[in-house]
This record gives sequence, structure tokens and C-alpha cells, in this order.
Amino acid sequence: MSERTTPLRIRTFVGSGVVMFVVAVVLVAATLAWNARKVALADSEAQGTRFVAGAEAALNRSLLAVDVLLASTDELLGLSTAMADWIDPEVASQRLRSSARQNLMVRYVAVLDGTGKAIASSDAAGSGLQVQLPLGFLAAVMEQPVSTLMISAPVISFASSERVLYVARYLRMADSSLVVAVAELPVAALSSVLVQGVDINGLQVTLERAGGQLLLSVPNREEAIAPTLTPQLGDLTETGQNWDAPARLTGEPGLVVYRPILYQDLRIAASIPRVAALAGWRDQRNAIALTGALFVAMILAAGGLALRYLSSLSQARMAIAQSKATLDQALESMVSGFMLLDREYRVVQWNSQFEQIYPWLKDVVAPMVPFRRVMEETSRHHLPRGTHDERMRWVEQRLLKQKQHEAAHEQTLPSGRTIQIIERPTPDGGLVITYHDVTALRQASAEIESLAFYDPLTNLPNRRLLMDRMQQAVAASVRSGQYGALLFLDLDHFKTLNDTLGHEVGDMLLRQVAQRLKTCVRREDTVARLGGDEFVVMLHELSVNSDEAAAYARRVGEKILRKLNVPYSLGGNTHHSTPSIGATLMGGALQPTVDLLKQADIAMYQVKSQGRNALCFFDPQMQIAISARAQLEGDLQQALTGRQFVLHYQPQFHLDGRIVGAEALIRWDHPERGLIAPGAFISVAEESELIVPMGHWVLRTACEQLAAWENDARYRHVQLSVNVSARQFRQRDFVARVVEVLRETGARPHLLKLELTESLVLDNVDDTVAKMGMLKTKGVRFSVDDFGTGYSSLAYLTRLPLDQLKIDQSFVHNLGVRHTDDVIVQTIIGMARNLELDVIAEGVETQAQKDFLAEYGCQLFQGYLMGRPTPVAALEALLDNAVPVQG
Ligand code: C2E
Ligand code: MG
Ligand code: MG
Repeated sequence: MSERTTPLRIRTFVGSGVVMFVVAVVLVAATLAWNARKVALADSEAQGTRFVAGAEAALNRSLLAVDVLLASTDELLGLSTAMADWIDPEVASQRLRSSARQNLMVRYVAVLDGTGKAIASSDAAGSGLQVQLPLGFLAAVMEQPVSTLMISAPVISFASSERVLYVARYLRMADSSLVVAVAELPVAALSSVLVQGVDINGLQVTLERAGGQLLLSVPNREEAIAPTLTPQLGDLTETGQNWDAPARLTGEPGLVVYRPILYQDLRIAASIPRVAALAGWRDQRNAIALTGALFVAMILAAGGLALRYLSSLSQARMAIAQSKATLDQALESMVSGFMLLDREYRVVQWNSQFEQIYPWLKDVVAPMVPFRRVMEETSRHHLPRGTHDERMRWVEQRLLKQKQHEAAHEQTLPSGRTIQIIERPTPDGGLVITYHDVTALRQASAEIESLAFYDPLTNLPNRRLLMDRMQQAVAASVRSGQYGALLFLDLDHFKTLNDTLGHEVGDMLLRQVAQRLKTCVRREDTVARLGGDEFVVMLHELSVNSDEAAAYARRVGEKILRKLNVPYSLGGNTHHSTPSIGATLMGGALQPTVDLLKQADIAMYQVKSQGRNALCFFDPQMQIAISARAQLEGDLQQALTGRQFVLHYQPQFHLDGRIVGAEALIRWDHPERGLIAPGAFISVAEESELIVPMGHWVLRTACEQLAAWENDARYRHVQLSVNVSARQFRQRDFVARVVEVLRETGARPHLLKLELTESLVLDNVDDTVAKMGMLKTKGVRFSVDDFGTGYSSLAYLTRLPLDQLKIDQSFVHNLGVRHTDDVIVQTIIGMARNLELDVIAEGVETQAQKDFLAEYGCQLFQGYLMGRPTPVAALEALLDNAVPVQG
């Protein structure tokens, strides 16, 4: 049944109830009123009847008394034995008086002769009384065959002006003559006899003759001549009892009751108009009607209230239905699954999302199903291979957690989706369970975590995660006393590969290296990528013995070395790469992780400096060296500002003995340690930015020297070679500064020769070419220092505006000793000649070396054999004594 029909039905129900009640009340009221009316009429009828009976008796009695009085006159006056003349009027009147006095109703009694003249009377006038009988009455009395009492029509008394009746009968005298005894009765007196003690509302009393002549009436009618009433009483028999007869006096419809009395066809009648009879009833009726109306009003009010209540009830019900519909809609539009349990943990409600998450529960979930049943079905899907007992245990655990209202927990569905389940108690002791699909969220956070903690290229833990794990490992090793180890790896010449073959190939190599590294360690160890070509391997809990731990770490390190030395296949090309591995032990004490990492890094640099592709353990001595290095850096800074540097010059000779030039070599004139060779500080200066101002100072000093020699014929041909470090050369304003120094000092550019190392030139060929080109246009010359050590392809030489190659002293040193070096030196010289470049050999210490070089075609020499680096004065002295320059 629809929700809408209910109020209508109820309204109809209430409406018909109200109508029924109202009808009942009206019917009851009408019945009551009708009955009351009947009772009132019956009462009036009974009263009327009773009254008429009483009135009849009273009238009979009164008239009888008068009749007796009149009849007794005969005896009283002795009429029947006397003659009219015999009667003494005085005596007779006296007798009559005393007799009449006994009847209070009679005004007087008189004896009249046949002519109507008074013979005697009880009146004070005695026989002199004038009796005015109605016309014909006397005759009518005397004409009667038998003496009977006759009553006259009412007349107005001549004497008293009252309405009176005359009652008479004749008496026979001794002589058979007739006299008439008559009595005057005031109608008022007779009336009062009739109605004495009677209280009937609206009562009309009439005394009538059979013909309708009205003798008296109560209330009294004041007509002079008594009227004749119609219809006659005899005709009223039927209607009289129906309360439809016309009342005798007023003619209103009503009840007429009458009875004949003893005398002369007289009838006493009582008329009660219906209106009067019902006067009392009308009040009753009104009261009943009022009460009924009150009842009806109450019923209507109750009905109205009931309707209002029911309508508000149905409105409330509709509102509830509406809100339930809204709730259902809301539940259906939820993205999450939803289930409501009652206090017995039985299913009350759920949404379609729930069914989508748990399709296999579709046939299980129904209202009032215990949640345990749902869980049992779920266990079947969660533990498809579990035994019955295992599943039951799972169900019990879940239900227990539910009872404890544990915070949100997560469930992984067999499909791999992650569902977060939140259970909250409802106020009535039930449970609201929501199921959120957090798969995407978890994936996203996993991704974020991976981005934050993993290197996207290799998927290895990044520096952050490594540091975190190291911290935990250090703390754990302090507790367990177990030593672990840290291996710091750097791929040798990775930059070259990256620059020459491209970043994509570089990335490929890094990924393969990561892959290989993972195969070298246990699951619990960590392989991380710090960035670039730097990797760190952290080995956990190797041994409580540090030597054993170190041995183990060395084995792993060597394994890594072997594995990483296997050629790589990079996009179809085979590539050989080697790592430098620095190792350090961790454990024993709470060391800061950064320090550990630094130690491994130092060890790795040790490997680099010792020729790469090896494993080296951190040596505390090395740390001391590094600290010293830091100290040195500070000192160098001071030396620069304190002008503690000096330039020495090493002469460069031609085969013919001329000094063609000199190499400017920096020396540190240390206030305590004396003169320090650049080998002790140049590398430190190169690692810091210090080499830039230092190199600039050297350049400026050398140029000032050139300018100083400008005007001296002994020195003005001397070229000065100045060493330029990579960092210095890579400065953006390097060219501008050289040009500026030349301009400021006034040195001639073609006497300045800049020595660049082979690796510097190779590092960024384009930049090198550009800068050299610009300086070349100014006249500056270039030499490649330590040539031959870079193992590089010589093809680039053609691209560079070079003037000279400087054979590295390591080759010169082995000339005649190592055949390969002989070959290299010959090759360099041959190539230089092909490219039309000068070639100079440095580090020439023996005549044999000089001879070899000269034999191979080298014509320029620098070395202790001919001259060590010296202060400028010594060089000038040497120049003074040297073979004079030709041309
Ligand atoms: P280098 O440019 O290769 O300079 C040649 C080095 O070989 C000089 O060492 C020189 O004293 C040494 N030498 C010369 N002849 C012989 C020899 O017959 N036998 C041996 N064993 N050595 C010989 P020095 O002066 O100690 O300089 C070492 C390095 O320091 C230089 O190597 C150069 O790379 C760097 N250097 C020196 N001065 C400067 C400078 O002003 N600026 C820059 N950037 N580097 C400098
Ligand atoms: Mg040099
Ligand atoms: Mg050199």
C-alpha cells in the first residue's frame, strides 16, 4: 500500500465515525425530546382528565347544594300546604335568609310567583327584590313537566353588575299554582369552585350546554351575552385526544376533555392548548438540543483534533519516509561501501557499493542476517585454501576486533584491492561499518614514498633511505656488538662515457650496475644509489669480530669488482666499465652516519688516486691526511693574501743550446717550512676555488716578467710557459682576464704560452676550442702538458689551435728502459711533426735521454740535466751566459 492512501483512509474513517456519532446524538436527542413531548402531553392529558373529573364532582356538589337549597324552600315556607296569599313575605324572607346563609355560593334565594315577582327573598330587600331573570327563563322553568333544576344563561346582575347565573326550579303550592325558587350564583364564585387548587398551564375551563352555549369560562370572557362555542363538544371525541381539537376559548389546537354533569345537559370541558401543554417540554427540548449540540460540538472537535493529530502523524510518517528515501539515496550515492548492524550485530542496511566491493556476498547479505554469517562467507574468499578451523579462527578474530571497536583497519581483497574498514558504534549499540577503497591512495602513497626514498632510475634506495637505514644499522650493531660494513662505489670514467655516448647510454649502464650489485649481496643488505655514478652497499651484521667482518666485506667487495668488470651490453655496443670501491667497517661505537659515509668515500678516493678499479679499506691515516688537507686549504688562503708565493723559472733549451723559454713554476715561500714545491699544495688548491686567484697571480707575475724583459735584448726573446688548471680555464671570464692581464702588463702575447693538460682539453672540447680560438687571435700560444698520459684519441688535436706538445716526463724517464715508452715518444714526435707542432720533452735528467730524444727528432728540452727551476735572477744569469740568440 502506498504511503499516500493512508491519510485519506484515516480521514474517511474519522469522518464517518464523527458522522455516526453526530447522527446518534441527534437521534438520541430527538428521541428524548419526542418522548419528553409525549410525556408532557400525556401529563397534560392526565391533568386535564383529572381536572374535568374533579370539576364535574365539584360542580355537581355545588349545584346539588343549590338544588337542595331551592327544593328545601318548599318545606321551609310550607308552600305545598299553603296558598300564595298566606305567605308572610317578611317571615318567609327571614326564613330564606337563614337558609341561604348556609350556602356561600348563593348571593340570594328568592321565591317568585308566576309573573316573576318576588314573594320572598333572602336579600335585604326581601319580597321587594327585583329579580331580572333572562328572558324566557321563568317560563322555561315553569313549563317543565317535572320540576327540575334549571340554569340560566349568564347575565350581568342588575344589582351587582357581576356576571351571574340563575338556578331555578318550580314549586307547587297547595293550590297547584306554581312558584319558582330561584338562586343567583355569581359566575366568579362558581368558577372559583372549579379551579380552586388547580394549576394547569394554559388551562381553559368552560361550562357549556350541549348546544354549545357557554355558561362560564376560566379565564373569564367578558362578553355581555354568552357566546355559543363551535364545534359542539360532542363532535370533538376523535380529535380531542389527538391534541388537534380547537381549544374552546382560543381555538388554538390542543386537548379538549369534557364530561356531562348531572344537570340540564351541562358539560364541563377543559381545554389545554398544545402550546401551553408543551411549554415546559420546550425548555426540556431546548436543554436536550443544547446538550446534543454540545455533544455534537465535542464530537466534531474531537474529530477535528483526531484528524489534525492523524494528519500530523501522517505528515511525520511522510517526513520519515522522505528522509529514509533521502538516506537511501545518499547511501547509494556514497563512493564507499556501507553496512549498518543492529545491537545483535545483524544486518539492517547496506548499499550497492558494498555489493560491488564484495560481489560474492550479494546472495548472503539480507536484512536480519547475522554478521557472523557474512564473515564466514568472506573467510571463504580470504582463505580459499584454509581449513574450516582456520577460517573460523579468522572469523572469531574479526568479530572480536569488531566488538572492541578497533580503529580503522585494512583488508586486501583477493583481487589485490585494498579496503579500509572503519567501524563505529551507533547510540543504540549497533555498528556502522564503512568500506573505503583506498587502493589508489595506497598506490599513490607508495609512489610518493618510492619517490621520496627510492632512486627513480634504478629503483634502489636513495641517499635519504640509506642514511635512515644506516642509522638503524648503527644503533642495532651497538646493541648486538656485530660489525657491518659500508662499501662506497664510483664508476671509473663514467663522465667520459656519459659525454661521449650520451645520457641514455649512461643511464643504461647505471641500471645494469644496480642490477649486478643486487646479485652480490644478501636480502637484508642495502644497495643504494647516492646520485650520479655513486653507489653504496651496506652490509649488515657480518661478525662480532672486526677482522672477520672486514674479511667478509672484502670478499663481497671483490665479488662486486669482478661482477662489474664483466663487459656491459649498452644498446648494442659492448662497454667495459670498472668501479673504485672504498670500504669501511661500521659498528663497535655510535658513529654518525655521515662520518661513516665520508670514510668510505675517502677510501674510494684512495682507490681513484691509486689507479682505480680496486677495493680499498678506509685507513685512519688517510683521515689524518684529509684533515691536514683542510688545514692546508686554510693556510693557502692566507698565503695568497700574505703574498707568500713566488715564481721560479725552469729554462727550456733548444738542441743547439739556446734558451728559448722558461716554464713558470709556483713555489710557496712558507714562513716556517721554507720553500714548498707545488706538488704539496696545487692539488688542494685545484680542489678548492683557490687555484683561480692563485693561477691569476701566476699569469700576472709571468706577464709582468715578460714586460720587464721587453726592453732587454738579452731576455726579450724568452717565451714563458704558464700552467693553467682546469678549474681556472673553465672560468667563464678566463679569456677576458688573460686579455686584460696582457693589456695591463703590456706583455707581448706571442711570448706567453699556456700549458693545458690533456684531460683538461678533453673535458669539454667545444669550450676549449672556443676559448683557445679567442686567445689565439690575440697571439697567445698553447702547449699540451704531460702529453701521452691521457690515453686519448689524438683526433681532437686537429681541432685545437695548438703550438706545442710536451712529452710527459714519465716517458722520458723510461727512455731506453721500457720499449713501449720509446715507441710512445717516437709516435708523439712523429705526430707532432705531421701536425706541424713543436714538441718539447720535460724531465730530461740524463744525457742519454736527451740523445734518444734528439735521435727521434725532438729539438726542445726541459729538465734538471740542463737547469732546475730557479728564481728569476738565476734564470737571468743563465741567459746572460747562454748561447746568444740567432736571428
Ligand atoms: P709540470 O707542469 O709538469 O711541471 C714540471 C715539473 O717537473 C716541475 O715540478 C719541475 O720542477 C719538474 N721537473 C723539471 N725537470 C725535471 C727533471 O729533470 N726531473 C724531475 N724529476 N722533475 C723535473 P714542480 O715545479 O714541482 O711542479 C709540479 C707541477 O705543479 C707542475 O707540473 C705543474 O703541473 C704544477 N704547477 C707548478 N706551478 C704551477 C702553476 O703556477 N700553476 C699551475 N696551475 N700548476 C703549477
Ligand atoms: Mg707544466
Ligand atoms: Mg708536465
